[in-house]
Amino acid sequence: MTQTVSEPGRETPVVAETDVLVVGGGPAGQAAAVAAARAGAEVMLLERYGYLGGLASGGMVLVLDDMCAEGEVSVGGLALEIVDRLQRIGACVAPPLEDCFRNDAAVRDRWVRWGFEELYARKKPKPIVYSAVFDPEGWKQVSQEMVLDAGVRLRCHAWFSRALVEDGAVTGVVVESKAGRQAIRGRVVIDATGDGDVFGSAGAPSVHGSYIMTLVHRLADVDTDAAVAFERRDPAAAHQLDTEVKQLLGGAWDMWWMLTPRPGVVWCNCPHIPGYDGLNPEHLTHIEIEGRRRFMKVVDFVRANYPGFQRAYILDAAPQVGVRQTRLLDGEYVVTKDDIVSRRTFPDVIARGRDYYTPYRSLIPKGIDGLLVAGRCYAATPEAQRISREIPPVMVMGEAAGTAAALSLDSGVAPRKVDVAALQKRLLAQGVNLGTPVPVA
Ligand SMILES: Cc1cc2nc3c(=O)[nH]c(=O)nc-3n(C[C@H](O)[C@H](O)[C@H](O)COP(=O)(O)OP(=O)(O)OC[C@H]3O[C@@H](n4cnc5c(N)ncnc54)[C@H](O)[C@@H]3O)c2cc1C
Repeated sequence: MTQTVSEPGRETPVVAETDVLVVGGGPAGQAAAVAAARAGAEVMLLERYGYLGGLASGGMVLVLDDMCAEGEVSVGGLALEIVDRLQRIGACVAPPLEDCFRNDAAVRDRWVRWGFEELYARKKPKPIVYSAVFDPEGWKQVSQEMVLDAGVRLRCHAWFSRALVEDGAVTGVVVESKAGRQAIRGRVVIDATGDGDVFGSAGAPSVHGSYIMTLVHRLADVDTDAAVAFERRDPAAAHQLDTEVKQLLGGAWDMWWMLTPRPGVVWCNCPHIPGYDGLNPEHLTHIEIEGRRRFMKVVDFVRANYPGFQRAYILDAAPQVGVRQTRLLDGEYVVTKDDIVSRRTFPDVIARGRDYYTPYRSLIPKGIDGLLVAGRCYAATPEAQRISREIPPVMVMGEAAGTAAALSLDSGVAPRKVDVAALQKRLLAQGVNLGTPVPVA
């Protein structure tokens, strides 16, 4: 048996009370907070780090995927608002719509190195799709202003520690910070921690998934024009070098480097390391060490061998290790891989990714009230979550959760009892794309 110690009981001060308490300021949580505040609720947003964006900014996941399907942009609302705001500060690049859904050589040459390729396309060459690449610091700036403009009370450097559960409902949380342990009460709590920390603590049923982890990083002082020219001039030599880089990485997607909005700075969404648990600090430490060792070797190799990379150096590694999947809610509906690939829609659809749909029931825990879940820990099977957890759709999910929380307070019903037709109507009015057919009154 594991040795244990006893800790003394204590009184924990309640330092704040709010209508809607959002835990986790990643893409889902920031959208939930903004949506609930714009709908008139008093909102507090808790975040363990000093900035917003979660994996998008701190994890340096810099490409917004799953935004379109078959010739149309399939997300809307806050997911498109953030692209617009990023573009206005020069921190984002997206292809014009007239270049999207085409696979001719001229268009592919313009956009393929940005990662704007239809990942799931069967036909080759793959078409260019609507997507966006952004700067991580730009995301932090824009997010903080969106949240503050909406009137959200933001509390950073506060680690969620424990859910307060009374009479079968979550009524608030305990956080740890430099100020010690503090309690914050919320009439509706939204778990947007990505890892389901709140529903895990509250005892809601869940499953423990896992997927590859990645220590994302960026290289600077790359002559990207020279690198692209080399790849086009001598594809066989480029393929050989690419293979050697991937051997050093020990796991990567098709493109191990991509362009970013910053000249000479490239994005490396690698190395991929399977078989570790994102809830285990020893495993997370291993990914930090092993990931860094692998890309240090790659930089030495490309400086010596890869045209355009002679002066390259490591600009930064993501301050947040790239955890894709841990706890998943076993909610009132669990989305399956078949739902995703067969493009099944639902009477209670509240979000859409490229061509997959999220029912409101997949944000609702079984048996616990006062709590909604949004983001990559939503109720999906591990196989379904792997292909339905991209940044834009989780923002839409967050927008739906925040709007639902405000609606539940306005109408005096538990979140699970919210009038779904009224919720869908509000989301459509906010510009969210729910696809068709949607049974809106
Ligand atoms: C390496 C990698 C590559 C990816 N590639 C892409 C891609 O190319 N395109 C794409 O669209 N998506 C991609 N994704 C997926 C996408 O980044 C995530 O699914 C998405 O960010 C999930 O958003 P979220 O808000 O649910 O969770 P997260 O982004 O994980 O945010 C959770 C937030 O909660 C906070 N938090 C967690 N626990 C606590 C706590 N105990 N107390 C207080 N705060 C807490 C975190 O600090 C964070 O801010 C990738 C993911 C990874 C890891």
